[in-house]
Amino acid sequence: MSRKFLETLFDGYGQQFDVDQVLFESETEHQHLVIFENRAFGRVMALDGIVQTTERDEFIYHEMMIHVPLMAHGATRRVLIIGGGDGGSLREALKYPQMQSITQVEIDASVIDICKSYLPAHSCGAFDHPKAKVVIDDGFRYVKESKESFDVIVCDSTDPVGPGEVLYSEEFFAACRRCLVEGGIMVGHTGVGWFQTTEAIQVNQRLRSSFASVNFYCAAVPTYVGGAMMFYFASDDSSLAKQPTEVIAQRFSAEKIPTRFYNPEVHVGAFGVPQYFRNALEKGAAPPGPQWSAEMHEKLMAKNS
Ligand code: SAM
Repeated sequence: MSRKFLETLFDGYGQQFDVDQVLFESETEHQHLVIFENRAFGRVMALDGIVQTTERDEFIYHEMMIHVPLMAHGATRRVLIIGGGDGGSLREALKYPQMQSITQVEIDASVIDICKSYLPAHSCGAFDHPKAKVVIDDGFRYVKESKESFDVIVCDSTDPVGPGEVLYSEEFFAACRRCLVEGGIMVGHTGVGWFQTTEAIQVNQRLRSSFASVNFYCAAVPTYVGGAMMFYFASDDSSLAKQPTEVIAQRFSAEKIPTRFYNPEVHVGAFGVPQYFRNALEKGAAPPGPQWSAEMHEKLMAKNS
């Protein structure tokens, strides 16, 4: 009977994968890392028991993490990616011919090394691209000390547990705002809106201390269970989140970027987030039902180990 990988993010609900073969498993300096084969999703990577990415559906998340801010910005030359150790975001950002430089700050070198070996289609050689500068550091420390400025900052982090927790703090967002040029955009995710509404409410409030405009967009990623994945979109110019389809379409056709999920209609439609989510952000209170928390996750991890 094959081993099962049980992702128990929420009390009473989770997802299970058949582990057809474990390819790599270890405690890195920062977190537990496992990569296994699953006949439904291909190779799956999990960190501290939470599914990060799979070969089969990673393109949805990485295309939405990168092309929404870059097409909204329209003239991105310098990008900062925080986290993103599997390389999918870096791969997508390097598709822009006018891109000058992409700095990627990843806390765990093992994630990059192991993903290069076991998930090569994620980075597709991106880590060795001349425009890519890979820094192994805590993303928060990096932006606090950085003297550089960026057009777009992408926070492609784990959930707010373990090393990722600091990447959801008000201080982190303030430091990122300082590293953005005028008209810059910062994006990141707040998990699935249904079970992580509280997280989105907190991030929304914390971002608003540093950014004049905060919006959310969403996309359903099959292995991020519980509903659509929510992405925040922070800037000082509210029009950047409300570009008409024609503007995005003109940029999309000019850039000639190959995608499998993202297109101008998906871009504009993604900002149409569900009413319950909007109400929760406005009221500052999640709808009834279980909400994810780091404490609960750690308790469930202990129970299932
Ligand atoms: N797609 C995933 C998701 O939605 O959860 C995220 C993928 S990526 C693997 C997350 C990365 O964030 C990991 O490589 C992890 O090591 C990195 N990370 C976590 N905390 C960090 C920090 N404080 N600074 C830099 N990278 C961090």
